[in-house]
Amino acid sequence: MSAPFDHRTPERLPARLDTPAVLMYHSISATRSPDPHGLRVHPDRLDQHLRLLRRLGLRGVSLSALLTAQEQGTARGLVGLTFDDGYTDFVEQALPVLARHGMTGTVYVVAGGLGAPKAWGTEPRWDIMDADQVRRVAAAGQEVGSHTLSHVRLAGLDADTLTAEVRDSRAVLEEVLQAPVPSFCYPYGNFDAAASRAVRAAGYDNACVTGDYDPGDRFTVPRCYVSPRDTGAHLLARLLRHRLRQRSPRRRTATATSAVH
Ligand SMILES: [Zn+2]
Repeated sequence: MSAPFDHRTPERLPARLDTPAVLMYHSISATRSPDPHGLRVHPDRLDQHLRLLRRLGLRGVSLSALLTAQEQGTARGLVGLTFDDGYTDFVEQALPVLARHGMTGTVYVVAGGLGAPKAWGTEPRWDIMDADQVRRVAAAGQEVGSHTLSHVRLAGLDADTLTAEVRDSRAVLEEVLQAPVPSFCYPYGNFDAAASRAVRAAGYDNACVTGDYDPGDRFTVPRCYVSPRDTGAHLLARLLRHRLRQRSPRRRTATATSAVH
């Protein structure tokens, strides 16, 4: 885990963004093969989570929709839904569940790995969606965001590689979609000041971290990890915890968790 990036200075304290909770999923699959990193949620479990949101009067939306609503003062009752890495099972397993509940989310795709098994980290090597599947996701009303070219840790990267990972991944997805790609997600939630600047310079509108980040702005939107074992009660606890954190006074230390995601 690299040193967390604290962009606050005495001269410039950014406005705190009181976003609703943003949930972070990865793979959505009924497969029983090993999932050592706890990144695969069963589609029935996702269905259970979205049913709970509806019972609570909440609706899951993409990051762009969430932040737009935030600006317009209409974010009450919304929850952000995000799915990292762009696994093919999103198309097969998550899309029908989201459609059933009339909800949307943002899928952060590793743009340099389209149509191939994931090439970073350790096994399992789940498949990343291809260009046609990316287009299908967008056509179904879901948002496609960038998750870099190769799922590299961005903090400390040399300037050229950093620019390529951030800017070129956006260009790849915009070429595939023939539409703007405003949302970005830092792999492993890992970033530093240079990475955050690169994301802004590449023309993105917003970026997500992993776990808590205080205070969050639109380029450091915090997210709640969802475990494969999370029942409705667990999810409710995560939503309540987020709300309590939002109400608590600003903390002096920023934390950006970095796990295996
Ligand atoms: Zn990831």
